[in-house]
Amino acid sequence: MARKLKCPICGRPVVWRGNPYRPFCSERCQLVDLDRWFSEEYRVSVPRDLWEDEEKEGEDGKI
Ligand SMILES: [Zn+2]
Repeated sequence: MARKLKCPICGRPVVWRGNPYRPFCSERCQLVDLDRWFSEEYRVSVPRDLWEDEEKEGEDGKI
């Protein structure tokens, strides 16, 4: 039962077992993701409430 996952950064198949960088294919892609993550954190200036309202409607399935 081998997991078939693709690296979210470069799209290459990811070796899961014994891979310290999963879910990324390599240390390089892991660092790229971290860099993106931090960049977005600093950029966020829109109030979170606006986003949460939209998500709640979808999850609860309100009629
Ligand atoms: Zn990759």
